[in-house]
Amino acid sequence: MSDGQVRTIFLEGDNSVIAFDTFGTPGRARAYGKAIANAVPGKPIGTIIYSHDHLDHAGFAADLAPDADVIADEMCAKVIKLRGAQGQTQPTRVLTGERNELTIDGVDLVLLNPGPTHGSGNLAAYFAEEKTFFSSDTILANAKYGFMPDYHFCNLIEYMRGFLDLDWDRFVPGRYEMTDRVGFERGVDFIEALMTECQLAFVNFVPIWAYEPMKGYCIGQLGERFGDLEGFEGHVGQMAIRIVHHYLMGGWGLEDTPEPRVLMADQISL
Ligand SMILES: [Zn+2]
Repeated sequence: MSDGQVRTIFLEGDNSVIAFDTFGTPGRARAYGKAIANAVPGKPIGTIIYSHDHLDHAGFAADLAPDADVIADEMCAKVIKLRGAQGQTQPTRVLTGERNELTIDGVDLVLLNPGPTHGSGNLAAYFAEEKTFFSSDTILANAKYGFMPDYHFCNLIEYMRGFLDLDWDRFVPGRYEMTDRVGFERGVDFIEALMTECQLAFVNFVPIWAYEPMKGYCIGQLGERFGDLEGFEGHVGQMAIRIVHHYLMGGWGLEDTPEPRVLMADQISL
C-alpha cells in the first residue's frame, strides 16, 4: 500500500486486519483505513504495528483505528510517550530485543530490530513463507533519500547486510517502489560507497562543509557506478553533507556507538 510516496503493508487475520503504520496525516490515515476496508471487507483493524516513531509513518493511529492494539519496539514507545503527539496513540504492547515471533489473530509475524538504523525502535518484518521483507525508511530502491536526518550510520550497513542472511526475494521499503534482493543489496552498497567517499573527501581536501563541492566530488567518484539510480544527482550532495557531519561529530549520540542498546535504558519507564 502506498500514497505515492510512503509505503507500508497490512495483513488479513482470521477476524481482523493487522496494519503496519498509519501514513502521515489524519486524512491519509482515514484513506488507508478505507482502502483496507475495501480490500478486506468486514474485518476491522485490530492491530497497528509502528515501524518506527516518525509521525510521517506512524503518527495517526487515532484517525486510523483508535481502539486497535498498538505494537511498538521499546525505544519507539519511549519516544512516543515523551513526545505526546496528538493522534499518535500510545503503544499497548511493547517489544524488546532483536527478534520477536508473534502470532496475532492467526497471522505469524517475525519482527526484527538489530539496533538503531533509522528513527527510534525501527521494527522490520520478515515473512518467510512469502519470501518478503519490510524495513521502513532504511534502504530504498533509488537514491531519493532527502537529507537522511535521522539515520544512525554507525551500525546501519552491518544491520542491513544482516537482513540478507534471511531468505527473501521481495523487499518492501518505507517509501517509493518495491524491489528485490538485488535492488536492496545495491541500495546498501550505494550508502556504504557514499559513506566511504565522505571519508575520502576529508583526505582529498574537499571543502566538506560546502554543498556544491561535495555534490561535485560525489558525482565524480560515484556517478559511473550509481548514476543510474533515480534521484542520484539531485540528492547525493545533501546526503554527503549529512554523512560528513556524522564523521565530523562522531555520530549523533548513543545511537551511533558500538553498544547502542544502552540508549535510554533506565531513564524512561513505560
Ligand atoms: Zn522515518
